[in-house]
Amino acid sequence: MLEILAHNGPARLGVWHYADKKIPTPNFLLNITPATSRLKHEVYIAPHWVRTSRGPLVVHYGTLAGSAKIGRFGILPGASFGFDIARELAELGVEKTLALAERYPEYGAIIEGGKYPDLRESAARQLASRSLLTIASGARLCQRPRLLVEVLTRVREVINPNTALYLPGAPTALLPVLVYMGVDLFDTSYAIRAALRGSYITASESYPIARLKELPCTCEVCAKNDGEKLQNNLHLLVKHNINVLRGVMAEIRESIRTGRFTKLVEMSANASTQAMAALRILYREKYEFLEKYTPIAP
Ligand SMILES: [Zn+2]
Repeated sequence: MLEILAHNGPARLGVWHYADKKIPTPNFLLNITPATSRLKHEVYIAPHWVRTSRGPLVVHYGTLAGSAKIGRFGILPGASFGFDIARELAELGVEKTLALAERYPEYGAIIEGGKYPDLRESAARQLASRSLLTIASGARLCQRPRLLVEVLTRVREVINPNTALYLPGAPTALLPVLVYMGVDLFDTSYAIRAALRGSYITASESYPIARLKELPCTCEVCAKNDGEKLQNNLHLLVKHNINVLRGVMAEIRESIRTGRFTKLVEMSANASTQAMAALRILYREKYEFLEKYTPIAP
């Protein structure tokens, strides 16, 4: 479970007690792929068919259609029929996902429900006490700020405060505002996909590596190599992109620790129209959600 050390609004600084390890949160799960095989991190995630000795590992069992055999701890399969789908299909997806989850009460689970916040909320309610919950179609939600805010605020309010909430696929510029809504865990899929299409990311931007005259980063990759080397070596570009993610997470944690998190959220929102839109909706319409977690001065 997640131990909460400090709040800044609904944002949580915590320690995730997982597989005998103590993982600082907010954090990201490092996806084990051929492009990340040499990278080290505090916690990994991989689909159930990947054989690895890396740990601690969260196994991700994919979708129900894959009929995976459930073994070690992980995120149970979801019945996903897509995101922008008819309500009946989304309802069926939730129903089938919950039916399987009932058989494995100790496992992590997926909150399905497509684009319907009330379905997401009722799914979350029934999975409320799990130690780890995943928001399905995270990347799609991040493109729709209003829906993103509705889903996350409603889900966070009904689940256990000590449940670690995981949103896969989020772009880097949105991470602070997502943490502000109570997300604890992310992944590296955005950073890896960016590298695969030749993009070099910073905390707020994404640049085509072929057009960069200078590398605006001093991580160990960028200190030792130039743009041309990164352009010709996917491992180096992935490593830099993930280093950026590592830095963003450390800054988020440090800003919650020192009470400067809201300032970080506002500054980062300037760099992303989706983050700005989400923050505006939070300020204008979700005052109670934000207020609930703000300690009242005596
Ligand atoms: Zn770098």
